[in-house]
Amino acid sequence: MTQKDSSAQIHKNADLTPYNTLGISAKAASLINITSAEQLKELFETGLFEKEEPFILGGGSNILLKGDIAGTVLKISISGISLEVQTDERAELNVGAGVNWHSLVEWAVAHNFGGIENLALIPGTVGAAPIQNIGAYGVELKDVLKSVTFFDLKTGEESVLKQQHCRFGYRDSIFKHELKGKVIITGIRLNLTKPPHPIECSYRSLDEYLRKKKIATAGIKDVFDAVIAIRKSKLPDPSLIGNAGSFFKNPVIDAELFKDLSEKFPGIPGYKISEDKVKVPAGWLIEHAGWKGKRVGNVGTYENQALVLVNYGGASGEELWNHAKRIRNTVAKKFGIELVPEVNIVE
Ligand SMILES: Cc1cc2nc3c(=O)[nH]c(=O)nc-3n(C[C@H](O)[C@H](O)[C@H](O)COP(=O)(O)OP(=O)(O)OC[C@H]3O[C@@H](n4cnc5c(N)ncnc54)[C@H](O)[C@@H]3O)c2cc1C
Repeated sequence: MTQKDSSAQIHKNADLTPYNTLGISAKAASLINITSAEQLKELFETGLFEKEEPFILGGGSNILLKGDIAGTVLKISISGISLEVQTDERAELNVGAGVNWHSLVEWAVAHNFGGIENLALIPGTVGAAPIQNIGAYGVELKDVLKSVTFFDLKTGEESVLKQQHCRFGYRDSIFKHELKGKVIITGIRLNLTKPPHPIECSYRSLDEYLRKKKIATAGIKDVFDAVIAIRKSKLPDPSLIGNAGSFFKNPVIDAELFKDLSEKFPGIPGYKISEDKVKVPAGWLIEHAGWKGKRVGNVGTYENQALVLVNYGGASGEELWNHAKRIRNTVAKKFGIELVPEVNIVE
């Protein structure tokens, strides 16, 4: 293939501090803003993807930059929300990977399309949402996703992957495994509801909030408002204090181990997810390992939620990672449970 030049603007030695919500200061050798799939094709034709595997950046709300990035960072800014199919019962949307996730939720609620209102205020882009199958308040992306469109870095072609082939799990998908580093998500297709909407409000804090507000039959706007209010009261705003949301996944352990732990630590919470598996809140483990609200140098855990690691300002990626390891070690020592980061660690 003959190599061509790309029209993409390349920023050399780019500062990534504004591009990660933990506020870690790091640099990228090159940063390219991608606004269309055609631009990816052009870059493919320059031979860039044969030489290196670029780092794909969305809103930077689920990454820990351990240091500078020696190669190319592609910042995905592909825009657009379009209504593709509409029947009496449902609406299918195509959404560009660079669209801000919360703006999409706002747009859907404003158009009376249901299904994603429980996922309000999750930071980041639409293109990153399938990576860890974002979820909150009883809903996951997989519940409303029809398909994912991605650009294949090896072939230079776009393909569509149907929901059932994305291998979605708890904060997991094929994009964290077989397709990791091989594809760039350029857009997604969602299957949303039209009135009367099925409403998911069985999640405890959401149910309690709606009861307190005396909302007996909640609509999608009620759920949207409730989720925003609950999240604002619990989670730190990354524009005020650097964080990446939940740093670790909630561990899923054997029911046998959970039984032993319940005897040793009465009050340990656990949610049965199958006959022999129990999910334990990582925040509880971290808190009861003595880390809630504790600060070490420039880093610490959030005072209202131990699962959120914070940068009080000036922390390096290495400093934050060392803190995560300290927490992981004490939790392993006390409870015999290995915490796994939910945040993507970028070496
Ligand atoms: C305050 C706060 C609250 C949060 N609450 C939740 C929550 O309730 N539920 C939840 O699930 N998450 C939550 N998160 C985590 C985060 O918002 C989500 O994981 C989000 O989807 C990350 O989007 P992003 O665009 O910022 O991704 P980034 O951080 O930019 O990237 C995350 C990963 O996806 C890859 N990636 C990004 N875009 C693409 C693409 N287009 N193609 C291929 N790979 C890509 C990156 O390489 C990286 O590995 C929270 C984060 C914060 C800061």
